Amino acid sequence: FVNSIEEFFKFCSENEVKFVDFRFTDLKGTWHHVTYNIKAVNSDLLANGMPFDGSSIDAWQPIHKSDMILKPDVPTAFLDPFTADSTIIVICDVYDIYEKNMYEKCPRSIAKKAVEYLEEANIGDVAYFGPENEFFVFEDVKIKDHGNESYYRVDSEDGEWNSAKNYEGGNIGHRSGLKGGYFPVAPIDNGVDLRAEMMQVLEQVGLEVILGHHEVAQGQHEIGIVYGDLIEASDNVQKLKYVIKMVAHLNGKSATFMPKPLYGDNGSGMHVHQSIWKNGKNLFYKQGEYGNLSDIARWYIGGIFKHARAVAAFTNPSTNSYKRLIPGFEAPSILTYSSQNRSASCRIPYGAGEKATRVEMRFPDSTACPYLAFSAMLMAGLDGIKNKYEPIGPMDDDLFELSLDEIRERDIPQMPHTLRGSLEALIRHNDFLRPVFTKKMIDTYQHFKFSTQVWPYEARPTPFEF
Ligand code: GLN
Ligand code: MG
Ligand code: MG
Ligand code: MG
Repeated sequence: FVNSIEEFFKFCSENEVKFVDFRFTDLKGTWHHVTYNIKAVNSDLLANGMPFDGSSIDAWQPIHKSDMILKPDVPTAFLDPFTADSTIIVICDVYDIYEKNMYEKCPRSIAKKAVEYLEEANIGDVAYFGPENEFFVFEDVKIKDHGNESYYRVDSEDGEWNSAKNYEGGNIGHRSGLKGGYFPVAPIDNGVDLRAEMMQVLEQVGLEVILGHHEVAQGQHEIGIVYGDLIEASDNVQKLKYVIKMVAHLNGKSATFMPKPLYGDNGSGMHVHQSIWKNGKNLFYKQGEYGNLSDIARWYIGGIFKHARAVAAFTNPSTNSYKRLIPGFEAPSILTYSSQNRSASCRIPYGAGEKATRVEMRFPDSTACPYLAFSAMLMAGLDGIKNKYEPIGPMDDDLFELSLDEIRERDIPQMPHTLRGSLEALIRHNDFLRPVFTKKMIDTYQHFKFSTQVWPYEARPTPFEF
């Protein structure tokens, strides 16, 4: 871990680094990369960046204005644990070659602008984000067809092909049932070694791992890491997903952060814990109030709820996201807050002291681009503080028990139920984002989501409809 360009080169020669892998994040939250020979990397390139083709990234530049600059953030450098020859990864921001400053569609640059906005708003000097990314691990199974019979082989084994007739008849005694995964030990928990390997590699790439455990659904897991500021926490989500997917892959399995892969069992969320600090003091803490929450904390929640439908376009940006936000699976749909209550959109972890008092937004999921999702929540929350928006609540009952009639009668606000719903809200209602998200960025984003997700999805008949 290096702090300057000189230290970078020293570190590279000490570790016999052969390649430098420059990475950046697109609008979907996907990491892209280009690998340079270390011999071709000099201080000038690290300081000023290198050109690349921005027209090949979804919804970025048109072909006739395709040159962009990748600007390395040198202190983010870390060794890639998965390459045979020593490779160092450097996280980059994308710069506009014409404007010579941040590119308005670069999520990491938008996040930096959100951090500046927080400082200028004169409310706090740092906002902390603690995401919890849940995921499923599935076996990779190879299928081959031979006349009338299909054969399968688990990808991690070199062994024989088995008749597919026997596949379901395997080791079912050791599988957990629906919602049966939380917390029984092995062999019900079949991910002990895999998670241990993931946790070790996460430490190697510089994340501070707290815990790992099986989650409620079959084959579902969570690995908890230490929170950070907006940029650190977002970078960490990118590193965490990379490591978890790679370790699963190298073990012949697939890890997925898809919000709702299995009908009838829990989905995977990305709960995000948040607090704002000033001069080393937690502004969300006020002893003796409900949940030890200050006015500022409550208004922050109020702002996120007020703008939640539009915020969801960034925190829940896939058609699949909304299959998770239904009652009965520990994922929220009702926009209220509560201490302890896991059926509310915002939980206040119980009994936290001055340092640990925070709000946990439970609706986001990992299809979110972390830079955009954390920035959108921060902007909504700051707007709430400025305008003293009061959230509805607290509501301490099991909200999954509320009937639709009751929700309607009491006019309790809910999350949108579809990606179309959240995108429509974003189009109509984005003033709170505008100090940081340009109009062009929002237009591009909603159009990209409509054309790649909403329309193709809505046009397809599903098996259920048959
Ligand atoms: N899987 C749940 C969700 O979708 C959360 C369950 C938990 O963390 N206890 O948010
Ligand atoms: Mg957790
Ligand atoms: Mg969890
Ligand atoms: Mg949680």
